[in-house]
Amino acid sequence: MLVKVVSKNFDIQDSHTLKVALECGTYDSLDKLFATCPDDITEEVVKSGLRGKGGGGAACGPKWKMMPKDDPRPAYLIVNGDESEPGTFKDRQIFQYDPHLLIEGIIYSCYAINSHDAYIYIRGEYEWFINRLNKAIDEAYEAGIIGESVKGHDFRIDITVHRGGGAYICGEKSALIESLEGKRGHPRLKPHQKECEWFFDNPATVNNVETIATVPFIVKNGYEAYTAYGTAKSPGTMLFAMSGAVKNPGVYELAFGNKMIDFLNEVGGGMKEGKKLKALIPGGSSCPILTADEVNEAVLDYESMWDIGSTLGTGGMIVIDDSQNMVDVAKNLIEFYHHESCGQCTPCREGTSWIDKMLADILEGSGKVEDLDTILEVCETMNGKTVCVFAPAVKDIIKSIVIKFRHEFIAEFNKNN
Ligand code: SF4
Repeated sequence: MLVKVVSKNFDIQDSHTLKVALECGTYDSLDKLFATCPDDITEEVVKSGLRGKGGGGAACGPKWKMMPKDDPRPAYLIVNGDESEPGTFKDRQIFQYDPHLLIEGIIYSCYAINSHDAYIYIRGEYEWFINRLNKAIDEAYEAGIIGESVKGHDFRIDITVHRGGGAYICGEKSALIESLEGKRGHPRLKPHQKECEWFFDNPATVNNVETIATVPFIVKNGYEAYTAYGTAKSPGTMLFAMSGAVKNPGVYELAFGNKMIDFLNEVGGGMKEGKKLKALIPGGSSCPILTADEVNEAVLDYESMWDIGSTLGTGGMIVIDDSQNMVDVAKNLIEFYHHESCGQCTPCREGTSWIDKMLADILEGSGKVEDLDTILEVCETMNGKTVCVFAPAVKDIIKSIVIKFRHEFIAEFNKNN
């Protein structure tokens, strides 16, 4: 079931060093890259169907095509390594085990979009991973792989690592750019038409770490090598993280299209001793929750997950066992999102606060059954009326828990009356 595309070097001793990366073939096709037209690189990525692995799943190639042509302003590549969603911890595997693959992906991507400056925005708490990444970047500069002349070619690439300040919302691409510009990390209003991002009024594209690390495989081997994995609509592979009540939590690379329950049992080793599966939050903690019955039917690709009313998100699954109280689960999540709302939009700022308070009341024994309807009403006010998708995503997870596990909320009222 496991495949090796992005994770191909993860198990090799000292895979993070330049010496081992070179032995594994990293940077071995740069001459070929610079002999190819940048638009052909973009076309190869378009044909591969590569989607963003940071949660949204937007197609990568078409995003690159939105970068304006013949614009005199400098273009920027911004790599999103903020990874703050609970249950999501896959990009740090790339920082830890194969930072040179990310650097190689940055070279390919910068060349395709005609950018000479890349920023890696990385979660501030990832200090150990930041040090490892910086060492790899230093090695690449010293070896002439990046810098004024990429491996002797007439192309400059500079890479700068920027440490995030600790706000979850800075993983949202426009908030990330605001933060990178030195401002408070508030999401921006979205333009009506599709266009690139703007960094200090210069064209920019924002891609997730895993997305960029996938680019070398596609360009070196051809898009067909990538589409050989996965399904027709969700081609390729993804790093799936599994945490919670399973025997073998971790990060594993799978092709899209596998059954979720097979992944849980065959790779995750099944539930921890004496535990039974109650529910699973797929793709990071803001994706609608699945019951055990739904997990049995779920297939790990974008379309199948939408069909069952959830999303694939970041591929970070949180496995919940039958000893967990779902009111506690909902409270734990809303506390996090209440704390992390940037506060710009009233429905989000007040909605997360109000739901947090109502769930606290229910757990303390002073809640009422009618509160469940109020929670669902507040969820609706958070949907589609805010600057960014934070509030609708919080609505998704809270609403799904309240509807699918209503009996546990009722049991909580009965326990306290
Ligand atoms: Fe901030 Fe929430 Fe509005 Fe997003 S939805 S901009 S997080 S207040």
